[in-house]
Amino acid sequence: MIEDCAFCRIVAKQIPSDIVYEDPDVVAFADANPVAPFHVLVVPKAHIPNLASVANDPLGGKLLAACAIVARDGGYTERGYRVVANTGRDAGQTVIHLHLHVIAGRQLAWPPG
Ligand code: 5GP
Ligand code: ZN
Repeated sequence: MIEDCAFCRIVAKQIPSDIVYEDPDVVAFADANPVAPFHVLVVPKAHIPNLASVANDPLGGKLLAACAIVARDGGYTERGYRVVANTGRDAGQTVIHLHLHVIAGRQLAWPPG
């Protein structure tokens, strides 16, 4: 756990969040600044900086599976949703603890900005 990492502190339940899913490796919680009616962040419990660090690690698959569960439980399997992992500077990653955005509930534009 990294003391000054917001997502480590959410995982440790030191700061409150609206948790919608949890398993031994993963936590999912509502984004504090949602960009769509449904906006959940899926994060590993371990402090891993970004997607680049899960190359060859089965954790990547677990995170993606958790996204599908979260979207299903939200009722968006049929209508659809988007999973995004902003990775590094050019993608605009602001929190340096790996997180997958699950975004749904409105028509989403493509390509993203
Ligand atoms: P990024 O730009 O790094 O891909 O996304 C970071 C996301 O984390 C943003 O959507 C932001 O709203 C969200 N976020 C940042 N700090 C917190 C927090 O303390 N709690 C919650 N629930 N979301 C946060
Ligand atoms: Zn962290």
